[in-house]
Amino acid sequence: MAIHTICITGEPVLHRPSAPVTLIDDDIRTLVADMFDTMDAAPGVGLAAPQIGVDLAIFVWRWEDEDGILQEGVAINPRLLISPVSIDPVDEDEEAEGCLSVPGERFGLRRSDRAILTATNIDGDEFTIEAHGWLARIFQHEFDHLLGVLYVDRLSEPRLTQARRAIRKEGWGRPGHSWMPGEDFLEG
Ligand code: ZN
Repeated sequence: MAIHTICITGEPVLHRPSAPVTLIDDDIRTLVADMFDTMDAAPGVGLAAPQIGVDLAIFVWRWEDEDGILQEGVAINPRLLISPVSIDPVDEDEEAEGCLSVPGERFGLRRSDRAILTATNIDGDEFTIEAHGWLARIFQHEFDHLLGVLYVDRLSEPRLTQARRAIRKEGWGRPGHSWMPGEDFLEG
């Protein structure tokens, strides 16, 4: 098991759809274990394979919910259904989202309150989870990564301009930037 460097926005692997997993072998099991290690070290509540430079449709999550129950798992070749999104104004505090590939930044983003995730687990079995609230947000965020979409791509104004400005100020938005959890403290 190992902690990997995390790609920052601008790295091409983050901006293209990832390939389906065809076989769950030891390489995939090691990759998933490394993804959990990297996510925990960051720290974060979700991580998609493209964020560590691997072009495969896998994400992991680990998050203690409002009732103190640990929600965690791995989704391989996921599909996601979401309910319609409310058109109410975004609540900047309640709906602030972040991403390990845009480290240290937070912007309010409206997400669907309900998401149904269907995917393959590490044993090769299909599962379905119906999620609400923050877990539904995590699923939407991580699923987006596998489409090559970052949450900042989904922002509306004025947050979109603010995010683009923050990314430009850091010199990100082009290839070659990454950070190392445990060595660089950009999150948390
Ligand atoms: Zn992210």
